[in-house]
Amino acid sequence: MNSIVSLLRPEIRRLRPYRNAVFEPGLARLNANENPWPPPGDSSDPGLNWYPEAVPVSLQNRLAMHYGVAQEQLLVTRGSSEAIDLLVRGFCRAGQDTVVICPPTFGMYEVYAQVQGAAVRVVPLRREQDYTLDVDGIVGDWAETDRLVFVCSPNNPTGNLIALADIARLAEQLRGRGCLVLDAAYAEFSGSRQSIDLIADFDNVVVLRTLSKAMALAGVRCGALIGAREVVDLIGRILPPYAFPTPCARAAEACIEPGNAAEWRRRVDLLVRERARMSDALAALPAITRVWPSSANFILVETRDPRDFAAAAKRGRVLVRDFSWDPYLPRCVRITIGTPAENDQLLAALG
Ligand code: PMP
Repeated sequence: MNSIVSLLRPEIRRLRPYRNAVFEPGLARLNANENPWPPPGDSSDPGLNWYPEAVPVSLQNRLAMHYGVAQEQLLVTRGSSEAIDLLVRGFCRAGQDTVVICPPTFGMYEVYAQVQGAAVRVVPLRREQDYTLDVDGIVGDWAETDRLVFVCSPNNPTGNLIALADIARLAEQLRGRGCLVLDAAYAEFSGSRQSIDLIADFDNVVVLRTLSKAMALAGVRCGALIGAREVVDLIGRILPPYAFPTPCARAAEACIEPGNAAEWRRRVDLLVRERARMSDALAALPAITRVWPSSANFILVETRDPRDFAAAAKRGRVLVRDFSWDPYLPRCVRITIGTPAENDQLLAALG
C-alpha cells in the first residue's frame, strides 16, 4: 500500500462510493427524480432542473492542464475551504488524531480540526526570523497520531513565502508518517510555482489551489486539491455526487480560456505593482511601526493602535482587517490590495 494512503482513516479506505445515476445524451432522463422542465426564468443550457455532472470532468481536465498535472491528480472542490475540510475528515479519526498548525496562519485549519474532533498541535512560525517554518519543531515532536500539517505559502496573514527547501525537508522527514498540506491559495501573486512541483517527488504532499484570489472567482467557490492519485481518489469519495454546480463549472472553465487567463494575469501584475507602491507608502505613515514584505495580494502591518487605525480607515470608507485579537499578531492589521483608486482612498484616510 502507498505509504500515505495507509494514514487515511480505515473507514475512508474501505468506503464504497454512492452509485449515482448515469446519463446518456439523447436518452430521456427518468433515472434521477429530476423535474423535466427548467425553472421559470432559467434560459441556461442544459437547464438548472438537471443535476450537474457527478464529477465536473471537463473542468477537472482543464484545471489539471492549467496546473500542469495529470487529471487523476486533481480533485475539484467547492473552494479550497472544502479541500481543507475533506483532508481533515479523511485523515483524522475523531478523538484520536492530530492536526499540526503553524500560526499565525489561516484560521480555518483549526476550525475544521475542531469540527472533526481532531486535536490541534501548535508549532508557531518564527516571528523574529521573518515567520519562517520551524521544521525541527514540527518533526521533533511528531507523534504516531499526528496526521496532517498545514503549511500556507504565501502565508495568510503574514504574506511571506515559506522557503521551498524547508517545505521539501519537512516532506522528506514526514515520508510515511504524515501528510504535508501546502496551501498555495496566493501562489500566483508570488511569481513562484514551487508548490506543485513537490508532488512529483513526495506522495505525502497535497497542494491546495483556489480560483478565488488571482482568478477573481471567489463568488464561484472553486478550488483544487492536487496530490498523489490514490489520495485524490480516496478523498474524492467523501464528496457527494453532483456537488459542483453547473454554472460554477462553466464560469471556472471560462476563466482558464487563454484570452481570459491573459486578462487576469495582467491584473495580477497590476496588483503586484500596487503592492510595492502600497508597501512603501504605508511604511512612511507615522501610524505604522512595521510593514512585512508580501508575496500575496495583501500586506500585514504593525500599527501604533490597531483600533484607531481601523477606525481611521473606516472614516475614509475603507475596511481593513484588524488581527490584533490574535496573540501571535499584536497590533497587526491586514490590508488587501484593491484597485489603485481604492488604495489611494485608504492612504488618504490614513494620511
Ligand atoms: N486558504 C487560504 C490561505 C485562504 O486565505 C483562504 C481564503 N481566505 C482559503 C484557503 C479559502 O479560500 P476558498 O475557499 O475561497 O478557496
